Amino acid sequence: MRNSGEPYITHPIAVAVQCTEWKLDAQALMAALLHDAIEDCGVTKTDLIERFGAPVAELVDGLTKLDKLQFHTREESQAESFRKMLLAMARDVRVILIKLADRTHNMRTLADMPRTKWSRISLETLEIYAPIAHRLGLNQTYRELQDLSFRYLRPWRYAVLSKAVTRARNRRRDLIQKVRREVEAAFADTGMTVRIAGREKSLYSIYKKMDEKHLSFAQVTDIYGLRVIVPGVTECYTALGVLHQMYKPVPGRFKDYIAIAKLNGYQSLHTTLVGPSGVNVEFQIRTEAMHVVAESGVAAHWLYKASDPNGQAASRLGAKWLQSLLDIQDETRDAAEFWDHVKVDLFPDAVYVFTPKSQIMALPRGATVVDFAYAIHSNVGDHTAAAKINGEQVPLRTELRNGDVVEIIIAPVSTPNPAWLGFVRTGRARSKIRHHLKSMAQAESQELGEKLLTQALRAEGMEKLPGSDPVYQVIWDKLLRFTGSRTKAELLTDIGLGKRIASIVAKRLTTLMSERGEKPDAVLMTRERYSAHENLSQGAVTLDGTESASVQYAQCCRPVPGDNIVGYLGRGEGLVVHLADCSVAKRLQHKDAERFIHVEWSDEPSRPFETGVIVTVSNGKGVLARVASALAATEADIVHVDMGDEAAQEATDLRFVIAVRDSAHLDAVIRTLNRTPSVLLASRIKPSA
Ligand code: MN
Repeated sequence: MRNSGEPYITHPIAVAVQCTEWKLDAQALMAALLHDAIEDCGVTKTDLIERFGAPVAELVDGLTKLDKLQFHTREESQAESFRKMLLAMARDVRVILIKLADRTHNMRTLADMPRTKWSRISLETLEIYAPIAHRLGLNQTYRELQDLSFRYLRPWRYAVLSKAVTRARNRRRDLIQKVRREVEAAFADTGMTVRIAGREKSLYSIYKKMDEKHLSFAQVTDIYGLRVIVPGVTECYTALGVLHQMYKPVPGRFKDYIAIAKLNGYQSLHTTLVGPSGVNVEFQIRTEAMHVVAESGVAAHWLYKASDPNGQAASRLGAKWLQSLLDIQDETRDAAEFWDHVKVDLFPDAVYVFTPKSQIMALPRGATVVDFAYAIHSNVGDHTAAAKINGEQVPLRTELRNGDVVEIIIAPVSTPNPAWLGFVRTGRARSKIRHHLKSMAQAESQELGEKLLTQALRAEGMEKLPGSDPVYQVIWDKLLRFTGSRTKAELLTDIGLGKRIASIVAKRLTTLMSERGEKPDAVLMTRERYSAHENLSQGAVTLDGTESASVQYAQCCRPVPGDNIVGYLGRGEGLVVHLADCSVAKRLQHKDAERFIHVEWSDEPSRPFETGVIVTVSNGKGVLARVASALAATEADIVHVDMGDEAAQEATDLRFVIAVRDSAHLDAVIRTLNRTPSVLLASRIKPSA
């Protein structure tokens, strides 16, 4: 039973009846009748699929999901997002139409509900559902939902205004009738067939106008108007001419919504004329087709399908977006694509998701968990460690879907990963990640610079860098004046990035320190200078793979832990690590020897390293698969593979980039490959001399 005492079935039937007025199809009507079945009757989706088919079950399921969304907040911006989310969540426009029919019937029978619920339901209708009806061009429903909400939100004002309108209607009736007769006569003279109808402003729009513009009821003059419906578009403009010859138009009130349709597809000519006794009368001029769209918007699509199988009337609709929708519809007859198109036109590509506190966030389509984190706050983004969607842990690259509840788990030690740049969608996340990585690289370069300068200083016989107490500040100030750097940090960073050469700075620093009375230690100097050449230095830069932007592993030779390596301090690019016998490094060493520094591997590398392997194979079916599985067996990950020209050759080269633990692992991989059938030769890729 409903609250009114009537059998419950009256509600689904009323909803279905509304849908028949929009000429919705049989599936939609079934779904309208069943719309509360899952939610209220414990029927499962599977039951519905078995008895009514999958399409109907999908519609009912969609409606049930919309029911679960509860709109709480009072903020205007949230209402807008919520509306968009509702639209975006519904995969099928019929779900929204049935929902609007459902809401319309519930509003019509709201008097039977307890008074305590009136205001919440009415507000939701006014802020969420009425605007959706408007956006979809369902103007009749839009006006009805607004008036009903107004009635239950402000019962007293509604009653007063309603009485005033009735009284005014009686007073104006004669005038409007007179205008109508004159207009009908004028059109009869032109021989044009027109339909003329009276038009009344809705109570809610009168109320809003009075409220917003601080007008009294008497000051709202455009309550009444006439609508002239003509056979074709050309006649619209002819009719406008006829009217403007009869009565004087009010300047600035003419609007051509035929040439430039409203966003929801609405088309008409609007003009306001000074009628008999100086009373303004508003006119709307449109064709039958425009009238259908004006009253039922998106639903007009079904009306056309029902009444005009060739789409002739539809093709006359000038409204740009509606036209394009109908074009697509004609070609594909696919309601899903039609609706996707409507959604794209109604709002830019966006997904709407919730924070755990039910705040709605709008993000571009394709946005990931990391984008969400940065949208909340850059501190959240910078320390994102993990994430949950709808309570389940997900990878950070997961794309968000409408209605997801997203929770970000942060850890103070977490920092942005360069790999995030590969999947984030928003500019905000991208620039924040870049910024963070840059400052991390800065800090690393500074640390490296300090190491290099200390090392160079020891080779000059000085134990360590001067501290930062005032005594030494004089030395630093003089040194900075010499190098032209603004701060000590800048100088060290420059050294770390290779923009300055440590040994030159160290020499100058040694001179400055000696002037202050510090003597170079000859033993230290000798030992450091020797050890630097003997590769035994304590001051070597140790690499374990955790360095980010300040250290690069050369792409030409791709060193891995265990390899003999050298470090080249490139100009502005930081430290580049090459194989000691890399031909590229050797050429550099020839002309730029002082830029080479001593580097060594850490005992415990933090990650696998990538290196190149070239595998020459005899051509044949499944060779790549065989090589790949051989690689998998050695626990080397394939990062990338390039295949040579397969055509017309007996043998081909496969170039792999693989990730290995160290050089011993790499040797084992190459041995395994060389034992693999079809492999003629496998070797490491190194630049040729
Ligand atoms: Mn219902």
